[in-house]
Amino acid sequence: MKLVSVEKAGRVFAGLWLESKVLDLAAAARAAGESGDFSSVLAIIRGGTGALAGLRRIEARAAELQAALLAAGEVQVLAPIPQPVRNVICVGRNYAEHVKEGYGVFGRDPKLPTVPQFFTKATHTINAPGGNVRLDASLTALLDYEVELALVIGQGGRDIPASQALAHVWGYMVANDFSARDLQRRHDQWFKGKSLDGTCPIGPWIIDRESLGEVGTLELTLSVNGEERQRDRAASMIFDIPTIIASLSAGMTLEPGDIVSTGTPSGVGFAMQPPQALKAGDLVVARIDRIGELRNRIVAA
Ligand code: MN
Repeated sequence: MKLVSVEKAGRVFAGLWLESKVLDLAAAARAAGESGDFSSVLAIIRGGTGALAGLRRIEARAAELQAALLAAGEVQVLAPIPQPVRNVICVGRNYAEHVKEGYGVFGRDPKLPTVPQFFTKATHTINAPGGNVRLDASLTALLDYEVELALVIGQGGRDIPASQALAHVWGYMVANDFSARDLQRRHDQWFKGKSLDGTCPIGPWIIDRESLGEVGTLELTLSVNGEERQRDRAASMIFDIPTIIASLSAGMTLEPGDIVSTGTPSGVGFAMQPPQALKAGDLVVARIDRIGELRNRIVAA
């Protein structure tokens, strides 16, 4: 099941992506006699297991809900959660080969993390799956990409044990953690370099956990202008998703709709010889098989 946020004639609403068609979920719920709030993706996630069951019933009847079906071309696809309630939570250095390439840039021996390394990206970083990414050359000379598997929290909680962590995942999407490397270093803390507006495209939809199944076999790839830069499997993560959720939620409440991005494989531009910065006009495609892809163009500010 692919849950999307779309816009049509100024109205933003939640939909089920059915390849060539989109089902307007609020309209479909009314027609199908489903109670509950299906007006936005966040409302559906907050609706918990009841809303998820309703969604499955609606999906099963999609073909008969003609009045709620729109052609895909009639709508603009937005980030699945266009305005998250708080920062996107990210895991840094979660693929060994990426840790090694990062240390290699400074000629140092790699030190693998022993606990997950967390940082956040500001809410205004959220961008659409096909959105332009602004490059202000007066601000950064080293804009870089990072394809990542992101998860969306369903049921919130604190002190979630690893053994129950997956039950708190509503679903998964692709994220691209665009990063201004020079700002990360200049400010001696990652927040600023990770938080420029529009530097976190997500989507193109959220696939619910049950539909996606096992995530370890997922392959992440990223290309710039058709040239492959990153490729690895989610199973290469140093800290797997249950470990990340258990560590993150220890003494810290997670809320429905929280976005957690799980780190990037090796192949980032700053670690290439010589380092490669993104330029205006570049097309960056971040892809995870069985989920989908983000296609973002870099545009001069
Ligand atoms: Mn990252």
